[in-house]
Amino acid sequence: MTAPIDLRSDTVTRPTDAMRAAMASAPVGDDQYGEDPSTNRLQARMAELLGKEAAVWLPTGTMANQVALRTLTRPGDEVVACRESHAAWHELGGAAANAGVQIHEIGQGGLFTAEDLRAATKPRNFAIFPTTTLVQIENTHNRAGGVVVPQPEVLRICAVAQELGLSTFLDGARLWNASAASGLALDALAAPFDLVAVAFSKGLGAPGGSLLAGSKSLIAAADRHRRRMGGAMRQNGIFSAAALHALDHHLARLPEDHANARAFAERLVAGAPVQLDLSTVQTNIVVFHLPASLALDAPTLSARAREHGVLVNAFGARTVRAVTHLDVTRAQCESAADVLVALLTR
Ligand SMILES: *Cc1c(COP(=O)(O)O)cnc(C)c1O
Repeated sequence: MTAPIDLRSDTVTRPTDAMRAAMASAPVGDDQYGEDPSTNRLQARMAELLGKEAAVWLPTGTMANQVALRTLTRPGDEVVACRESHAAWHELGGAAANAGVQIHEIGQGGLFTAEDLRAATKPRNFAIFPTTTLVQIENTHNRAGGVVVPQPEVLRICAVAQELGLSTFLDGARLWNASAASGLALDALAAPFDLVAVAFSKGLGAPGGSLLAGSKSLIAAADRHRRRMGGAMRQNGIFSAAALHALDHHLARLPEDHANARAFAERLVAGAPVQLDLSTVQTNIVVFHLPASLALDAPTLSARAREHGVLVNAFGARTVRAVTHLDVTRAQCESAADVLVALLTR
């Protein structure tokens, strides 16, 4: 059987030969002494790209989010985030376990408004309320189907945050996709936030690595939390070289992934009675729902699709996610849609 068409995630990509060559020849040193030239280059380049004073490399996006929470909150605080954000759903309760904070989930479809934030922020110093100290935005929003948060609303939210004395954090694991879809530069998207996280292991196709960017003092504090959590590595340049290669060679091709997701979604909607609002297909993620009238639920569809060489994720009992990336072609995305349509209309 030929290799399956793997649409489970944009993290399943394997480093290209050129990326492996860049990794193999990377200048390296001990990053805990600040002596890894490739990591220093990547951090400087990313600080510049994101319009921040400083940046620090982290092994994963989950640790970047955890370190950001540690840096910007104190135990017992409350953090406002969008409903179904990665921090609330995909990090094993890390916000509570590592930072000791609770997350107040607001909005829907990956979005909330400045008014929603104002309503959710608890009055300071009221006897029984936790202190709301941080608002976090996920852009693009994974579980909402990779939707881009409109920048005018981001600016309004961050203005309200400043007025209310809240810190601001951008979970931009897929900020590259938000930039490609909106036409806004990375530094413009990052500008209103105190701390910004990006991931090299999603659409950019590197085998690992994330990064936090912000002011010198916040990044110095984040670095201490990173070390405390065991996230400081040694000859990290091997990973940094992959990220630098991805910035040079994979960033500009993201619109291709977006067009492939769109083609997949349109074909699926045209052929099968799934619930899928095409206006949510803005980047490389397609999240669709199986109405109760369909015999198949999401885990069963996922299992059947696997038998036909197509991998998709059951994201809920009747919710399915498919993600495009640099290891799937337009033709593969179209035939994956055809397989799902055949299973759903049988
Ligand atoms: C994947 C992801 C993360 C976590 O990244 P890992 O490297 O998988 O730990 C954080 N936030 C968002 C929005 C993500 O999609």
